[in-house]
Amino acid sequence: MHAREISGVALSGRRYAEELLDAVRERASRLAVGAGIATVMIGEDPAAKLYQRRINEHAREVGIASRPVRLPADASFGEVVGKLAELNVDPEISGMLVLRPLPAHLPEARVLRAIPPEKDVEAQHPENAGLLALGTPRFIPSTPAASFLMLDRYMLDTGRSLETAYDGIDLVVVGRSNNVGKPAAILGLARNATVVSCHKHTTDAGRLREHTTLADVLVVAVGAPGLVTGDLLRPGAIVIDVGINVVSDGEGGTRLVGDVDLESCLEVAGAVSTVPGGVGPITDAWLLHNSVLAAERLEGHGADTSALGLVGASSRAAG
Ligand code: NAP
Repeated sequence: MHAREISGVALSGRRYAEELLDAVRERASRLAVGAGIATVMIGEDPAAKLYQRRINEHAREVGIASRPVRLPADASFGEVVGKLAELNVDPEISGMLVLRPLPAHLPEARVLRAIPPEKDVEAQHPENAGLLALGTPRFIPSTPAASFLMLDRYMLDTGRSLETAYDGIDLVVVGRSNNVGKPAAILGLARNATVVSCHKHTTDAGRLREHTTLADVLVVAVGAPGLVTGDLLRPGAIVIDVGINVVSDGEGGTRLVGDVDLESCLEVAGAVSTVPGGVGPITDAWLLHNSVLAAERLEGHGADTSALGLVGASSRAAG
């Protein structure tokens, strides 16, 4: 059998997540009132349930109060807004997020507008999304932040300076959701990369490869297992796989995979983040980082949007 050549490095996020959690624990311990995260789940989505449990566990581990809130699937818009208003005046809660997917009867944009901006740790309120787009973020949403924390660390580990590592490089983001793809593109621009946003229509037009083969850095956030294979990459590219997909393991069970076909991509890429264990653990840690940041601000200090000084350019952009 032909032995395939692996040239790329598989990037794990676990070490970075641990470092971030250590920093969060330390900052949380210095707070007078403390930080608290509320995760509001409406209905019973299994993935949202797992996420809520994970955040709850991590928060407690690092000394952050955790409030998993569950509302029935038929909760009215008024009830959801009422709960968010209640959390807004709760001194124990510094950050909150509404877990998705929302039940179909709830208007997502209006629900996100009801999150108080100072506690909107996923930056989904239009005010926070706008501040991010303007380069002056109040919070950097966790998954795009985690993607760039991983990229920044890889740049540093390979001897590059964060002042210049992204200058003029081609950074292609596949996926343009408000919570991942769009903010990732904004963070790339803030680092002086040349950014291209691809989406479903790019693929449907048969033009995805045209863009991805130019990418020095490729961030994939779609939700389609195996969408990106090695032949879609530029040799030496750095690939961040954000996708999380549950697929059959062929033995009657299931396993988690990303959007990137790791095996074929490692034959071409310089580095590819793994799923699981890549962006995911850093994302969880970043949410807690934002909750501590919110608490610091509520206590009248702490304007640092970055973590560990590692999300360099975006914090420069924040001024
Ligand atoms: P989403 O809201 O469903 O957005 C998916 C995006 O992918 C859309 O912009 C869509 O394009 C685009 N797309 C769909 N099919 C495509 C195709 N064949 N080719 C190119 N683009 C395509 O999803 P999301 O919330 O951004 O999440 C994306 C993935 O990341 C999911 O697997 C999710 O589970 C995962 N995720 C992971 C983390 C983490 O911590 N690692 C956090 C959040 C999400 P259109 O806009 O044209 O429809």
